[in-house]
Amino acid sequence: MDHRYCAASGRYQKMKYNRCGKSGLLFPMLSLGLWHNFGSSADLENMKEMCFRAFDLGITHFDLANNYGPEYGSAERNFGKILKEEMRAYRDEMIVSTKAGYDMWEGPYGNWGSRKYLIASLDQSLKRMGLDYVDVFYHHRMDPETPLEETMMALDTIVRSGKALYVGISNYDGPTLLRAAKILEELKCPFIINQNRYSIFDRTIEQNELKATAKRLNKGIIAFSPLAQGLLTDRYLNGIPSDSRIRTDGRFLKERSVRDKLDQIRALNHIAENRGQTLAQMALSWVLKDEEVTSVLFGASKPEQIEENVKMIQKVDFTEEELAEIDRISLI
Ligand code: NDP
Repeated sequence: MDHRYCAASGRYQKMKYNRCGKSGLLFPMLSLGLWHNFGSSADLENMKEMCFRAFDLGITHFDLANNYGPEYGSAERNFGKILKEEMRAYRDEMIVSTKAGYDMWEGPYGNWGSRKYLIASLDQSLKRMGLDYVDVFYHHRMDPETPLEETMMALDTIVRSGKALYVGISNYDGPTLLRAAKILEELKCPFIINQNRYSIFDRTIEQNELKATAKRLNKGIIAFSPLAQGLLTDRYLNGIPSDSRIRTDGRFLKERSVRDKLDQIRALNHIAENRGQTLAQMALSWVLKDEEVTSVLFGASKPEQIEENVKMIQKVDFTEEELAEIDRISLI
């Protein structure tokens, strides 16, 4: 008997889609990231259920990078397996992205922004995922040593070779985005999107000109870690659960952050309750409140979280008072 996944009908009515800058590509308001919970120690059935639930709810975008795991490469391998075995009929209904820019393999050619690294890394990613091309390929972070022309020309080569349809840059600041966009424009390379951290707790893109520059250039923004890795949810309101990110994979999120922010989290949770939302839903809505942000890129450890998060679509607007109160609580 064939148990292959069959997508829910009506899924496109459950989601809203935003145009990315002035490109032809629409992104779902919510996108799913595979940074955590898709590595080789995670449960494959749970990964499948998360991909299925997301897609059934209209989430057409799955975001990866070469080194998502652990170990590096394993998230792409697992996603490739799910695609091949269950979801291949839907490849043309999906946006799959990957990136290179952080450490991936040993030696001088597996990190940063050289042409050598980016082109080799994408070839490896495509093999791991069993794909001929990705929809978006990103340079993952600014490289102060490699000439920006070299990195941008590598992105252009990648598009011309048919291995990516569009390109993006990640973790760039406003001035470097401006320089990159100029080079890519001259090359007529389809650069459409910036991927940056943005949440109630992290306003960096408002301070480093990324948000304003993207708006001026008509480029999209996809905001990652909108829940501050789980801090902006009800996860840590009453202690540190054994199945939470801090306990299961605390490489980047530490117990100390909860101690430092618990009062703010509780106060924000109170505002969310008054809005009739969960804190996670309010935190996602907050990121999408301005038109510059094309999509909010969250992570999940369980299908139920995806379901809860997508319900934020029912309430995305804020009153001036709510926004001021959120700022008063979070900007201290
Ligand atoms: P989030 O801030 O969305 O944190 C996700 C975590 O929050 C989940 O793993 C889960 O933690 C918790 N969570 C999610 N929904 C709920 C809910 N409804 N209730 C309670 N807890 C919830 O994002 P991530 O930090 O995971 O980043 C998202 C994506 O962004 C990544 O997968 C990646 O694609 C991208 N990214 C890009 C980077 C870049 O440099 N370009 C860097 C980092 C991320 P728990 O495990 O505790 O359940």
